[in-house]
Amino acid sequence: MEKNFELSAIDLYPEIMNIYGDRGNIIYFKYRCSLYGININVFDVSIGTVAEKVCSEADIFFMGGGQDAEQALIYEDFINNKKNILIEALEKNKIMLAVCGSYQLLCDYYKSLDNKIIKGISVFKGHTESKTPRLIGNIVVEAEDSVLVGFENHGGRTYLEKGQSAFGRVLKGCGNNGEDKTEGARTGNFFGTYLHGSFLPKNFVFCDYLIDTALKNKYGISISEVIKINGIDKIDNDFEISARKDIADLRKFV
Ligand code: GLN
Repeated sequence: MEKNFELSAIDLYPEIMNIYGDRGNIIYFKYRCSLYGININVFDVSIGTVAEKVCSEADIFFMGGGQDAEQALIYEDFINNKKNILIEALEKNKIMLAVCGSYQLLCDYYKSLDNKIIKGISVFKGHTESKTPRLIGNIVVEAEDSVLVGFENHGGRTYLEKGQSAFGRVLKGCGNNGEDKTEGARTGNFFGTYLHGSFLPKNFVFCDYLIDTALKNKYGISISEVIKINGIDKIDNDFEISARKDIADLRKFV
């Protein structure tokens, strides 16, 4: 008999930090959960709203990318109203997927092209320096025992401090800075990445990893146990697999 499992997800600044379709991450996460019979409550939390209760009960946070102007637009609210919520979520082993401009704000600081320093919230130990040219193109990364594909478009070069875990290793493309082959960062269950795309629909294995982590946090149960309890036979991943293969210059990696 199907048991009701329920997760709650927060999308931070969805109308502002949503460049290159990053909203697709929470849409796909909700879709993927529905395949397993898991109900998802999605809450949009933007400038001016703190939504302390909703955020304190959330299992996963999403925040997309944005150009320097969008980063500046949300910055004050992010530091004053969201920083403590996210630090508390990190300490409670909750999950966050922060893409590009958001990832940069979770580091120690961001230095813009005109040398303005924007302090971050130091979830990830490292900093970003905006340079030209922009790093643009399809990217392949090895992470969490899987091959992740996506699209990157950023001026920022992120340099992680010694001891700060990267999210993955660049197989093709630029990643954090186009020099040290690192991509993104990971602290606890907080993931920062430069992979747009949207990222999750192109990486369903990693999406399942996030669902598994959220279920273990909340119910102490794995995604495979939920599949059994909810009597899910087979999940059809053909569309996702062909989408990965369709990224022509990445075909040899996936
Ligand atoms: N403004 C940041 C940069 O150019 C982030 C861009 C983005 O989120 N795609 O590096």
